[in-house]
Amino acid sequence: MNGTRKRCPICKVKEPVEKYRPFCSKRCADVDLSKWLGGKYAIPAVEPPDEYELMEAVERAQREENET
Ligand SMILES: [Zn+2]
Repeated sequence: MNGTRKRCPICKVKEPVEKYRPFCSKRCADVDLSKWLGGKYAIPAVEPPDEYELMEAVERAQREENET
């Protein structure tokens, strides 16, 4: 029952590389590091598309409200 392979916790897509464990690349390791440093210079991580769609839906609803 060991079917699940570990994935990089940042991009959640690639498998970790020995050199940057538990991350898949230096880029993902940097993203994690910048989070720890307070996020000021954080490269925006991969955003869940759901959130974006939700924002759009809210905007659309507000626009409709203003029209009536
Ligand atoms: Zn990664």
